[in-house]
Amino acid sequence: MIFIYLALYRKYRPEAFKDVFSQEHITRTLQNQIKNNQTVHAYLFTGSRGTGKTTCARILAKALNCLSPEDGNPCLKCDACKLIEEGVQDISEIDAASNNGVDDVRLLREETRYAPLALKYRVYIIDEVHMLSAGAFNALLKTLEEPPAHVVFILATTENHKVPATILSRCQRFEFKRVKLTDCTLALKNAAKTENTAITDDAAELIARLSDGGMRDALSLLETCISHVSENNDEITGKIVREAAGVAGSEHVFGISEAVQSKNTAAALKIINVLHEQSKEMSRLLGELIQHYRNLMLLKLMPDETDLVSWLPEEVDDYGRLSAKLDLTQILQYLNILEEYYERISRSKDKRLTVELCVIQLITDGQRPVVGRQSAEAEEEMTAVTRNITEGGLPPPRQEALAEALAVVNRLENNKAVSHAPEPSVNKKLEEKINQMKQLGIEVRQK
Ligand SMILES: [Zn+2]
Repeated sequence: MIFIYLALYRKYRPEAFKDVFSQEHITRTLQNQIKNNQTVHAYLFTGSRGTGKTTCARILAKALNCLSPEDGNPCLKCDACKLIEEGVQDISEIDAASNNGVDDVRLLREETRYAPLALKYRVYIIDEVHMLSAGAFNALLKTLEEPPAHVVFILATTENHKVPATILSRCQRFEFKRVKLTDCTLALKNAAKTENTAITDDAAELIARLSDGGMRDALSLLETCISHVSENNDEITGKIVREAAGVAGSEHVFGISEAVQSKNTAAALKIINVLHEQSKEMSRLLGELIQHYRNLMLLKLMPDETDLVSWLPEEVDDYGRLSAKLDLTQILQYLNILEEYYERISRSKDKRLTVELCVIQLITDGQRPVVGRQSAEAEEEMTAVTRNITEGGLPPPRQEALAEALAVVNRLENNKAVSHAPEPSVNKKLEEKINQMKQLGIEVRQK
C-alpha cells in the first residue's frame, strides 16, 4: 500500500515551476532569478507539510544547473538535467532528522571546498533543517557566512521558528502557502482521470478539504480511495472518501452540533460513543467540529462570500438552518473551547474522554457570557448536565471518569471566576457541587 502511494505521489510530482500548485509568488521569483542570473547561495523554504518545498528545491537544483533553461524552468532534456534525474553526487538531499550532528555538517563543509564533479553547482537540500543540533547549526553557519561560489544551500523546514536567527539572516526566505482548495481539487480530478478512475466533484473536494492544503496527503488519500473502488470499477464518492479516511460523516458532526445547541448532553455523548466504537479517530472528529463552526462563523461574517466556506452541496441547507439559530459570539466561544481541546488531545491518553469533556464544556460554558456569569445559574446547569450523563445510558466506569474530569473542569472554571471577581465562597460552592455529584451516585476523587 505504501509503495503504491509513493508511486502515485512521485508520478504527480511537478517537474517544472509552472506545474507547482498555489505557490506562484515563489515560483515566479525563482524563475526570474534563473533567467537573470540573480540566484543566491542560501535559500530557506518554510511552510507546512506537502506544500511543495522539496519539490521546488529539486526543480531549483535542476534549473541552476540546466544548460539551456526555458523561461527559468529546467529543460529536462540537456545532459545536466538528465544527470540530476539519474542521481549525481553534486546534488545532495540530506534529512536533518537523521543527520543532525555536528560531525555530519563538518563532513559536508569539507566537501563544499571541492568544485562540483559534473555540474555547475553543488546543491545541498537539507530537509527539516530545524532538527539540526546547536553545534551543527554553528558549523553550517560558518559555511553560510562565506559560501564557495559553486555551492547552493536549499534549507527546508516546517518549523522556521526553531531555526536560529543567525541562519535565517543568511538565507533568502520563501514562505510556502497551503495548497488552495480549488487547486487541490482540480489536481485530484486530473490525477483520477489519468488513473482511469471516476470521481465525483464532491469526493474530490472532500479529499482536498481533509488534506488541509497538503498535496502529498491528498494524493495519498486518493490512492487509498482508488484501491477501495478498483475491484468493482466503481466511482469514488463522498461516502468512499469518508470510509477510506475513517472520518465521521457530516451527519454526525451536525448531530453533535444540534445536541450542543439543545443542551442535550446525553445525545451528544451517545454520538461520540457510537463513533468511538466504529474506530473513528477522535482528534479528527474535533478537527471536523472546528471546521464546522468555522464554516458557521464565516457564514455569519460574510453570508455572501460562501467561497471561503468548505461545505458539500448536500450540507448547504443544514448550514443555513443552524446559522440562523446561532449568534456570532456564541460561535466564537465554541471555537475557542474547541481549539483548546484540539491542542490538548494529542497529549491525552483517553482521547474519547477529551472529546466528551469538550462537548460538555461546549454545552455548559459555550452558551453563557465569558465574564460575570451567575454562580447559581451555572450550578443549576451543571446539575442538569450531570443528571443527563447518569441518565444517558453510559456504563458506570465511563460515568465515573466523566464525573471526575468534570470536577476538575469545574474547579478550573471556579478559579477563573476568582480571578475575574473574587468571591470567598467559591471553594464552598465547589464542595457543594462535588457533593451533588456524590448524591447522584458518582464518586468524585479530590486532590
Ligand atoms: Zn536542462
